[in-house]
Amino acid sequence: MSATTIATLTCINCQRTEGEIPLTQWRMAGQRFWICPDCLPFLIHRRAEVMPRWNLPVAAAAKGENHAEG
Ligand SMILES: [Zn+2]
Repeated sequence: MSATTIATLTCINCQRTEGEIPLTQWRMAGQRFWICPDCLPFLIHRRAEVMPRWNLPVAAAAKGENHAEG
Protein backbone atom coordinates (compact mmCIF):
# COMPACT_ATOMS: atom_id res chain seq x y z
CA MET A 1 0.00 0.00 0.00
CA SER A 2 1.85 3.04 -1.21
CA ALA A 3 0.75 6.59 -0.56
CA THR A 4 1.67 7.50 -4.11
CA THR A 5 -1.35 7.95 -6.31
CA ILE A 6 0.07 6.66 -9.56
CA ALA A 7 -3.31 6.81 -11.22
CA THR A 8 -3.05 10.58 -11.40
CA LEU A 9 0.17 10.63 -13.42
CA THR A 10 -0.45 12.09 -16.84
CA CYS A 11 1.66 13.40 -19.69
CA ILE A 12 2.05 17.15 -19.35
CA ASN A 13 1.28 17.62 -23.04
CA CYS A 14 -1.32 15.06 -24.10
CA GLN A 15 -2.72 14.20 -20.66
CA ARG A 16 -2.54 10.46 -21.30
CA THR A 17 -2.02 8.38 -18.17
CA GLU A 18 0.69 5.87 -17.39
CA GLY A 19 -1.98 3.23 -17.89
CA GLU A 20 -2.13 4.21 -21.55
CA ILE A 21 1.48 5.03 -22.41
CA PRO A 22 4.90 4.96 -20.75
CA LEU A 23 5.71 8.14 -18.88
CA THR A 24 9.06 9.56 -17.82
CA GLN A 25 9.50 12.02 -15.01
CA TRP A 26 11.50 15.17 -15.65
CA ARG A 27 12.52 17.98 -13.37
CA MET A 28 12.88 21.68 -14.01
CA ALA A 29 13.69 24.34 -11.43
CA GLY A 30 12.29 22.23 -8.63
CA GLN A 31 9.14 21.36 -10.56
CA ARG A 32 8.42 17.82 -11.65
CA PHE A 33 6.47 16.83 -14.67
CA TRP A 34 5.75 13.70 -16.67
CA ILE A 35 5.99 13.27 -20.40
CA CYS A 36 5.31 10.43 -22.82
CA PRO A 37 7.54 9.29 -25.71
CA ASP A 38 5.19 10.83 -28.26
CA CYS A 39 5.51 14.27 -26.70
CA LEU A 40 9.20 14.12 -25.80
CA PRO A 41 10.24 15.51 -29.24
CA PHE A 42 8.40 18.72 -28.34
CA LEU A 43 10.58 19.09 -25.28
CA ILE A 44 13.71 18.44 -27.33
CA HIS A 45 13.03 20.47 -30.44
CA ARG A 46 10.48 23.09 -29.39
CA ARG A 47 11.38 23.62 -25.76
CA ALA A 48 11.09 27.41 -25.68
CA GLU A 49 7.69 27.12 -27.32
CA VAL A 50 6.12 24.42 -25.19
CA MET A 51 7.53 25.20 -21.76
CA PRO A 52 5.44 28.34 -21.20
CA ARG A 53 2.43 26.35 -22.35
CA TRP A 54 3.22 23.76 -19.69
CA ASN A 55 3.68 26.49 -17.06
CA LEU A 56 7.37 25.72 -16.70
CA PRO A 57 9.96 28.45 -16.20
CA VAL A 58 11.75 29.16 -19.45
CA ALA A 59 15.50 29.00 -18.97
CA ALA A 60 17.41 32.23 -19.34
CA ALA A 61 19.47 30.56 -22.04
CA ALA A 62 16.42 30.14 -24.25
CA LYS A 63 16.33 32.46 -27.18
CA GLY A 64 13.36 34.73 -27.17
CA GLU A 65 12.14 38.22 -26.70
CA ASN A 66 14.10 40.62 -24.55
CA HIS A 67 12.51 42.03 -21.46
CA ALA A 68 14.19 45.28 -20.62
CA GLU A 69 12.87 45.43 -17.10
CA GLY A 70 15.28 46.18 -14.29
ZN1 LIG B 1 2.16 12.92 -24.29
